[in-house]
Amino acid sequence: MKRFVFATNNRHKLEEVQAILGDRVELVSLQQTGCTEEIPETGKTLEENALQKARYIYERYHTDCFADDTGLEVEALGGAPGVYSARYAGGEGHDSEANMRKLLQDLEGVENRQARFRTVFALIVNGKEHLFEGIVNGTILKVRRGTSGFGYDPIFMPDGYNKTFAELGNDIKNRISHRAIASDKLCKFLKQH
Ligand code: IMP
Repeated sequence: MKRFVFATNNRHKLEEVQAILGDRVELVSLQQTGCTEEIPETGKTLEENALQKARYIYERYHTDCFADDTGLEVEALGGAPGVYSARYAGGEGHDSEANMRKLLQDLEGVENRQARFRTVFALIVNGKEHLFEGIVNGTILKVRRGTSGFGYDPIFMPDGYNKTFAELGNDIKNRISHRAIASDKLCKFLKQH
C-alpha cells in the first residue's frame, strides 16, 4: 500500500480525502508524521500556499506528500477573500462568524453575488510536483441558511441547487465540493501512476 503524508491536522479533511482515495492508499496526518510545528502559509495564491506546505514536508521528511489550500473567490470583490479566506475579518483567523459578517457587509447593496470555492492540491511524488484544482461556482446569499459544514457554508449556494452548502449536509456537499473535485483529480492521477 502506498503511503502519503497529507499536510493537514484537520482530521475531517483527512477522512474525506481518504474515503475518495480508497484503501490502496494510506494517508498519514502531520501529527502521525511527528510534525508539530505550524507550517508557514505566506503565499499570495492558493497554488503558492499549497506548494509551500507540501515542500515543507518533503524537505524535512523526504516522503511523498500533498497539501491543500482553499479560498472563496467573490467576483464583485475581485476574487477576495481568496487566499485570505480564513482570516478575512482579521485576527488569528478561522472565526467563521466574523468572516461571514464582513463578507455580507462588503456585499451590501451589491447585485453581483457570483462566487466560487477553489481548492488547490499540491502533490510531491518521487520529488516531482503536481497541482490539481477543484472549483464550485455559486452565489453568496444575503442571509445565513443551514447549520452543517463550516466556514462560509451558510451563505454559499452552489449553482444548480436551491440550498446552501450548510443546508445540503455533509453527504451531498462532500460529493460535489471543490475539495471533492480536486481530490478526485488527485485520485485519478495516483491510480494512473
Ligand atoms: P483551508 O485552506 O481549507 O483551511 O480553507 C481556508 C478557509 O476557507 C477556511 O478557514 C474557511 O473559512 C474557508 N473554507 C474552506 N473550505 C470551505 C468549505 O468547504 N466551506 C466553507 N468555507 C470553506
